[in-house]
Amino acid sequence: TGALASGMAMAAAPLVAETDANAKSLGYVADTAKADQAKYPKHTKEQMCSNCALYQGKTAPQGGCPLFPGKEVTSKGWCSAYAKKA
Ligand code: SF4
Repeated sequence: TGALASGMAMAAAPLVAETDANAKSLGYVADTAKADQAKYPKHTKEQMCSNCALYQGKTAPQGGCPLFPGKEVTSKGWCSAYAKKA
C-alpha cells in the first residue's frame, strides 16, 4: 500500500491540533519531547506515535490514529493512550 499512500489520489487528513478538546483530554502533543512529564510520569521521549500499537501510518511523517477519527497525528507525537507496539 506504500505506493498508493504516497500517490496523489490519497490526500492526507488534517493534523490533530493540540488545542482540540480530544487532544487536550488525551494529553496529545505533536512532539513527544513536549509531553507533560509532570502529568504523565510514565512518558519517555522514546515513546511516540510511530512505535505505538494504534498508529496507522507507515513511513509518512503523519498517520491515522483511531482515537482521532478523520485526523492524523505526527509520527513523533504522543498521547497518554500510548501503547508500545509489540
Ligand atoms: Fe499517537 Fe498512539 Fe496516542 Fe494515537 S494512541 S495519538 S498513535 S500515542
